[in-house]
Amino acid sequence: MYWLTGDEAREQEPLLDPHIQAAIHTPEESQVKAPQVVQAYYQAAKRLGAIFYPHEEVIGFQHHDSQVTEVVTASQSISCKYLIITAGSWAAQCGEWLNLNIPVTPLKGEIISYCQPTHQLRHIIFGEGAYLAPKGESIIVGATKADTGFDTQVTEKGIAWLQNATAKLIPSLAQSTFTSSWAGLRPKTPDTRPILGPAPQWKNVILATGHNSVGIILSAITGKITTEIIVKNHMSQIIKPFTLQRFNEKSS
Ligand SMILES: Cc1cc2nc3c(=O)[nH]c(=O)nc-3n(C[C@H](O)[C@H](O)[C@H](O)COP(=O)(O)OP(=O)(O)OC[C@H]3O[C@@H](n4cnc5c(N)ncnc54)[C@H](O)[C@@H]3O)c2cc1C
Repeated sequence: MYWLTGDEAREQEPLLDPHIQAAIHTPEESQVKAPQVVQAYYQAAKRLGAIFYPHEEVIGFQHHDSQVTEVVTASQSISCKYLIITAGSWAAQCGEWLNLNIPVTPLKGEIISYCQPTHQLRHIIFGEGAYLAPKGESIIVGATKADTGFDTQVTEKGIAWLQNATAKLIPSLAQSTFTSSWAGLRPKTPDTRPILGPAPQWKNVILATGHNSVGIILSAITGKITTEIIVKNHMSQIIKPFTLQRFNEKSS
């Protein structure tokens, strides 16, 4: 990690605003394309025998004593040996079916993208609460934060905020027209930490949800520790601060 003067930063990224006085350069900073990562997980799971039921809404669970036995959708019941709750912003609904309070709520995030200018941006640029990330022929600018429930509408206010954030970092980019915009929901928890590990009162239910703004970064480690619980019956020490019980401990 290195301090750069504004001029040194502009040597690396000439489009940066001339008013920027200093920057921190972290050469190890890297990124992935989230849709491709998800595709890779999907293909790998399929190769190992996973069965997918796309676009099939789960509407409840069947259980016997403290064991969930079936996942119920509108069209079928699917028997299960283990149930892993990975419902993101909708995890609280799954909690209701299990008589558990899973404190996950949606936090909307909006993003816009621009075409790469002729002098292409090469690094991810983090500003005040916003970032610009080069993705092939595009640059994405993210992301707003709004507590507006299960709403994924892109708003004028959100776009204006993102354009303003762009202007502060790369003014010339903000003058061009953005090419696309979208919004998604982050699964937010009260302490911004994910909820991982066995669900209290259930023998075969594991929680892997509430990843807030870092669900892609934490996806591999989440898969690994969840697998260890099921396959090796081993709960890694690193899960301890992330169990659902932490919320009950605070309130009692
Ligand atoms: C704008 C934005 C930018 C982000 N940037 C980053 C970033 O740079 N790095 C990073 O690491 N993370 C980032 N995130 C956060 C990341 O996207 C989330 O943490 C991650 O998607 C959470 O993954 P998940 O699988 O737990 O939940 P989700 O991705 O929300 O997936 C949950 C899935 O469960 C399905 N589901 C829910 N209920 C049911 C039901 N009853 N029946 C059937 N299916 C159901 C949903 O349809 C959904 O497909 C960003 C999020 C947003 C919105």
